[in-house]
Amino acid sequence: MAKEKKLVEAITSMEEDFAQWYTDVVKKAELIDYSSVKGCMILKPAGYAIWENIQHELDRRFKETGVENVYMPLFIPESLLNKEKDHVEGFAPEVAWVTHGGLNPLQERLCVRPTSETLFCDFYKNIIQSYRDLPKVYNQWCSVVRWEKETRPFLRSREFLWQEGHTAHATEEEAEARTVQMLNLYADFCEEVLAMPVVRGQKTEKEKFAGAEATYTIEALMHDGKALQSGTSHNFGDGFAKAFGIQYTDKDNKLQYVHQTSWGMTTRLIGAVIMVHGDDSGLVLPPRIAPTQVMVIPIQQHKEGVLEKAEELKTRLAASGIRVKSDNSEKSPGFKFSEQEMRGIPIRIEIGPKDIQAGQCVLVRRDTREKTVVALEDLEAKTTELLETIQSEMFARAKAHRDAHIYDAHNYTEFTEIVNTKPGFIRGMWCGDQACEDKIKEDFAATSRCMPFNDQEQIATTCVCCGKPAHKLVYWGKAY
Ligand SMILES: [Zn+2]
Repeated sequence: MAKEKKLVEAITSMEEDFAQWYTDVVKKAELIDYSSVKGCMILKPAGYAIWENIQHELDRRFKETGVENVYMPLFIPESLLNKEKDHVEGFAPEVAWVTHGGLNPLQERLCVRPTSETLFCDFYKNIIQSYRDLPKVYNQWCSVVRWEKETRPFLRSREFLWQEGHTAHATEEEAEARTVQMLNLYADFCEEVLAMPVVRGQKTEKEKFAGAEATYTIEALMHDGKALQSGTSHNFGDGFAKAFGIQYTDKDNKLQYVHQTSWGMTTRLIGAVIMVHGDDSGLVLPPRIAPTQVMVIPIQQHKEGVLEKAEELKTRLAASGIRVKSDNSEKSPGFKFSEQEMRGIPIRIEIGPKDIQAGQCVLVRRDTREKTVVALEDLEAKTTELLETIQSEMFARAKAHRDAHIYDAHNYTEFTEIVNTKPGFIRGMWCGDQACEDKIKEDFAATSRCMPFNDQEQIATTCVCCGKPAHKLVYWGKAY
């Protein structure tokens, strides 16, 4: 019993200490482990399986829009990284360098990719000559390295997994359309698959990506009221093309620069899922992303026929396309329940001698703990239906929570009061001057998250910070 109690007791409650709760969940749900390389984490099977599902679904959606996958080298020569000024300045403080090959110093040091714009540009310069070579819509799945000072599992680590899409187009319009298309793809993925509502919008000049003309972002609100940037899509215009000399001959035989985009999503998304949906019993996974959707747990499994029945249910569910496991181990049912809850498995099915006799089983939802008795003949239909219900109700709950934590500030007094007392997004007008963003960051450690696309309501006529005339609505917030 001592060991069984430990599993649940070891979690700090969210209300008490959200950061500690998060750390407890990632460890206890066995998503990650720390490694002997400081700031780098080990993705354990339960964590990596979530990433595989994210990857699989995103990749399928990418390919529907014509994306092709490639793989670029891990290293970037220093001279290549230095070609685009803003870009190198943005990344220089976090770059890891390789200086030796075996025992010999390298003539030119190589950086371990923090992102691969420069490699793609170098590649595109060589393979794009004519308008017939366009567009190029490539993506790579890989890891990148950024030497962060402070790290947290999934949210910030020195090496992380991601995808980076890099495209080249003949025209400005086409590049802009692709930038928006990918942002919308990301937003739909978050909402439909991760059950996580997002605000779609544009980053300010201060917050945009190094070297981009425009950065679009999706911002999600975590349970503690902090924002998490969950995916970005950048329009590079022809800035990189000019720095790298990527030109093509158009239909009139004139030389033109290409227009480029890039877009990325990372293992941060797993951190987002934990912080949007989790509770004091651990992880709560939306069914569409859960590596295991159903756990069958036999009750009084030593009684005749119970284990066989549990296996039969598992086989039937698997045959109908549900990701299902059964727990036939020697642990007590109570321990198995708390393990299933900790790991966020959306449904557990309890089946014991009395259920078998009555021709039924019990379905228990992880998100609400609601129990439903289901006739065995309806097993597949009811389970499938319940998974869909859980998915849509998880989204609705997350959206209600998010919407209840969006506040309007009309002046600095209101802003100050909200930012100090109410965690969440603050909607406030902005004059467009970076000095106001700097002041808000300095005063409250809050940043402009985005200028929303779908929500351009003019809640005031003056800047929430300086009081000068303002036309841009900004979502502000403290962020991960
Ligand atoms: Zn202002």
